[in-house]
Amino acid sequence: MPRISSRLVVALSLITTACAAQAPKYAPTPAVSASVERQWAHGEADGALPRRVTVFDEEYPGVTHLAPDLLRALREAATDAAEDEVTFYVNSGWRSPKRQNELLREAVAKYGSKEEAARWVATAKRSRHVSGDAVDIGRLDATAWLSEHGAEYGLCQIYRNEPWHYELRTDAIDHGCPRMYADPTQDPRMQQ
Ligand SMILES: [Zn+2]
Repeated sequence: MPRISSRLVVALSLITTACAAQAPKYAPTPAVSASVERQWAHGEADGALPRRVTVFDEEYPGVTHLAPDLLRALREAATDAAEDEVTFYVNSGWRSPKRQNELLREAVAKYGSKEEAARWVATAKRSRHVSGDAVDIGRLDATAWLSEHGAEYGLCQIYRNEPWHYELRTDAIDHGCPRMYADPTQDPRMQQ
């Protein structure tokens, strides 16, 4: 009996050793790297934003890379708009030159010519989104709120054909927003 028992112990200890040898020395951390990859899998690093990202987001470059003064004004306005139960969603904010070029190519395909596309999408060199100075706000209740109160925060609609596109014009706080351009092709900044 004692012999069997001791053989059993040896066998068990061999099995245990074999299992230990197969186990990795360090546990990998797939959860962390997978979540980072997932987060940036759809162009978020270049400014793409998932739905329902608000001006208060602290995670996505599309929001966090906006010019600090613009972001501050947006958050101040959004805080006051929340009292009217209005939420400011960011449909598009900062964009990398790469993403801007993609959007421009898509616009040329959609509108059929560079000239027509220019009414909607600027080049990477000229786009105020690429410099972090422009934001496209949704939804309709938010743009309606901004068209009424935005000037008090220096937030102005710039183009008549883009009621969602806002930029910071600090003069607007005292003097109201400047006259809108019909579309971006009328904007001297887009001619340079
Ligand atoms: Zn815009």
